Amino acid sequence: MTATSPRATQDVIRPDKDRFLQEENPFEEMMSRFDFAAKQLDLEPGLYKILRHPEKQIIVSVPVLRDNGEVDVYTGYRVLYNTSRGPAKGGIRFDLQVTLDEVKALAAWMTWKCAVVNIPFGGAKGGVICDPSTMSNAELEKLTRRYTSAIIETLGPDSDVPAPDVNTNERVMAWVMDTYSMHKRHTVTAVVTGKPIEMGGSLGRREATGRGCTVVTKEALKQLKMPIKGTRVAVQGFGNVGSIAAQLMAQEGMTIVAVSDKSGGSYNPKGLDLPDVLKHTQGKKLLHDYKNAEHITNDQLLTLDCEVLVPAALENVIDHENASQIKARIICEGANGPTTAAADKILNEKGIFVIPDILANAGGVTVSYFEWVQDRGGYFWDEETVNQRLERIMVRSFDEVTSMAQRHKLDNRIGAYMLAIDRVAAVHRLRGMYA
Ligand code: NAD
Repeated sequence: MTATSPRATQDVIRPDKDRFLQEENPFEEMMSRFDFAAKQLDLEPGLYKILRHPEKQIIVSVPVLRDNGEVDVYTGYRVLYNTSRGPAKGGIRFDLQVTLDEVKALAAWMTWKCAVVNIPFGGAKGGVICDPSTMSNAELEKLTRRYTSAIIETLGPDSDVPAPDVNTNERVMAWVMDTYSMHKRHTVTAVVTGKPIEMGGSLGRREATGRGCTVVTKEALKQLKMPIKGTRVAVQGFGNVGSIAAQLMAQEGMTIVAVSDKSGGSYNPKGLDLPDVLKHTQGKKLLHDYKNAEHITNDQLLTLDCEVLVPAALENVIDHENASQIKARIICEGANGPTTAAADKILNEKGIFVIPDILANAGGVTVSYFEWVQDRGGYFWDEETVNQRLERIMVRSFDEVTSMAQRHKLDNRIGAYMLAIDRVAAVHRLRGMYA
């Protein structure tokens, strides 16, 4: 397989790829919500035009010498959507499905997300079209370092700060930080977040996104006057976000009835034995080999009988076809963009309480902000402090989003967009336009 003809492995890593490929463009999906929220805010036409465009889009070719002696060339992107509120912030994704439009959408979502939780960052995202599951550690390191050097002009603690995303992790962030530091001739820890603790990472960062999902789910249950104990939860995606959310929700007394990964899901209506599932997946094994629960597909998981559904894998999994069959009362969007605009309408009609991605999964970027602050100050906080401050921000943001939605009699997603766009627009007005 070569990097420029990835289709051969698509069936393996994304069994339901056809549904993904037929879905709407994620950038257009994001824009349709933006347009609606901007109209509610009566945003001035000039600002509307500015906020519809990414500030900067970088496309790079990344050659890598493979272990077999062949050279493959990968396409990488970095998009800075808006930096009016501070340095651009956003993860790097390694995946075969990466496209420029996906990266643009993710960069825009980062902009709105940082504004929703009111942290002083703009939004960015990066991605490389590749299949890391077919690459050795040495090849991944070369890919990461060459991609980092290709986009190095944009990177920096004051300009653009990456973090992990799908198929990237602490290890990859350490390589990004080292490559950047080698170029600068001194160690610059604050250039990335989500680093290993030993080299300037923050305690609580790895768990932060799942913890944030747990906090806002509890707030939603409270608002809907539903009990926490015994609440049945189904989680799609058992990676960083999904597996931590499942564990923390279980610790709160919720019953995790199903989890899934790219191979399918495991289901037990009485509750899964999570430590046993984790023991299985820690050996890099997929859930379709897990024997101690009923096997279900990812599609079946979405429509299970449960109170809380946590889509924590990829975009566009809840669409106009399956939205009407969803039985959960609450959807907590751990993933970015898991629900299409067409599905939003159906979920609203059904009265499903959606905690939108730009709020639900903002715990990760919030603790990334804490990590950046700690790196710059050279003073590190204990985990309790990190978790307490994260919880305070998530609870406050949940209240602000739901109050905005209730005040305007709109859904939570539009409430979150309105809050975010209003904050970004306010800074643009104050700064004026450099001409
Ligand atoms: P990850 O790579 O750790 O895990 C992804 C999980 O999704 C894996 O279990 C994988 O098997 C599963 N998956 C992949 N394709 C699938 C498919 N077609 N159907 C079902 N499951 C599938 O990634 P992550 O960091 O947990 O990120 C998951 C989502 O959360 C992404 O949308 C990401 O952008 C978003 N997110 C992550 C963070 C973070 O801090 N990691 C923060 C905010 C948002």
